[in-house]
Amino acid sequence: MKTPHETDVLVVGAGPAGVAAAVMAASLNLRTVIVEADSVGGKLHVIGALENVPGNWSTGPQLAEALAVDLDRLQQADRCSVIQGRAARVTGYGDRAELVLEDGRALSAQLIVVATGVAALAPSDADWISAPARLSLPPLWRTKPADLAGRTYVLGGDRPLGTWLRTHRHSSTTLHVLCPPADDYKIAEVAGDERVRIVSVSHVTLSLMPSGDGWSLQVRERQGERKSYVTATVLSNLGNTPAALDGLVSSKDGYCPPSEQHPRIRVVGDLRSAQFQRITTAQGSGAEAVLASYYASVLKPG
Ligand SMILES: Cc1cc2nc3c(=O)[nH]c(=O)nc-3n(C[C@H](O)[C@H](O)[C@H](O)COP(=O)(O)OP(=O)(O)OC[C@H]3O[C@@H](n4cnc5c(N)ncnc54)[C@H](O)[C@@H]3O)c2cc1C
Repeated sequence: MKTPHETDVLVVGAGPAGVAAAVMAASLNLRTVIVEADSVGGKLHVIGALENVPGNWSTGPQLAEALAVDLDRLQQADRCSVIQGRAARVTGYGDRAELVLEDGRALSAQLIVVATGVAALAPSDADWISAPARLSLPPLWRTKPADLAGRTYVLGGDRPLGTWLRTHRHSSTTLHVLCPPADDYKIAEVAGDERVRIVSVSHVTLSLMPSGDGWSLQVRERQGERKSYVTATVLSNLGNTPAALDGLVSSKDGYCPPSEQHPRIRVVGDLRSAQFQRITTAQGSGAEAVLASYYASVLKPG
C-alpha cells in the first residue's frame, strides 16, 4: 500500500485546467482524484459561442461535455476518481500535500493541483463603483437580448462582452458600457462593433430609484465631466475575483502566482493571473504542472 499518500495527484476543480491535469496524470500512470464543487467543465457552461479552441466546438457546453466524457473514461479505466465537494484549505509538507474540504473530509497526495478559477465580482467589490453592499445585478453573459428593456448600461468591460456580442450577432441592441481604466485593454476586441458605446469612466455611483422600478447612475467621466442617467436595465460585467483556497500564497490582487507556492502545490488556469484567462492556456498550464512535477521528481509513480 502506498502510504502516506491517499493518491498520487489530487486536482481541485474540474474546469479545463483541472481536467487537463487529470488527463496528463493518467497518461503518466499516476493515480488521480479530482474534487469538484459543481459540475465538470467549469466556466465552459456559460460560453454561448466558442471560436478560439482547436476542434469542432462552437459552444462551451459542447467542450464541457467532451471533458466529462474524458473523465468518465479515466474513471472506468480506474485511473481517476471524482469527488463532489468544495475544497477549503491546502497545506504542503515535505513528503505530501493535504486538502481539507468544507464538510471536514481530508485528503492527501504527493501533489495537489489547484484549478479553482475565478468567481464573479459584485458591484460593491469594485473600487470604482459605489453601490449598496450585497447588491447583485444580472450578469451580462446570462442575459438574452429579448430580456433587455430600454437603454441598457453595462458595468465594466470584461471579456464576456465580446462573447455576448458574438453569441447574439443578430441582436441590434446597443450596450452602453461604463468602462474603468483597468478594463481598457479588454475592450480593444469590441472597438469595431457598432452596437457598443464605450463610456470611459473614473467612478460610478449606483443606486435604486426610490420608486424601486429603475436605477440611478451618477457617472464621473475620465475627463472630469459628471453625468446622471436613469434606466431600467443595468447589467454586471465586472469580471472576477480569484477563487483562492486558504493555504495558498496570494498577491495583492488575490491571484496565486505558481512560483510562490509550496513545491507540492501547483496553481493552474485562471487562478494564476488576470492576464491569461483563456481555455487553451488553462489546459496547457494544467498539463504542464503535472509533467513538470513528474520530471522534478516531486511525483513518483508506484
Ligand atoms: C462568459 C465567459 C465567456 C468566456 N469566453 C471564452 C472564450 O470564448 N474563449 C476562451 O478561451 N475563454 C473564454 N472564457 C474564459 C474561460 O472560460 C476560462 O479561461 C477557463 O474556463 C478557465 O479554466 P479553469 O479550469 O482555470 O477555471 P474554471 O473553468 O473556472 O473551472 C474552475 C472549476 O473549479 C471549481 N471550483 C471552484 N472552487 C472550488 C472549490 N473550492 N472546491 C472545488 N471545486 C471548486 C468550479 O466549480 C469549476 O468547475 C470565458 C469566460 C466567461 C465567464
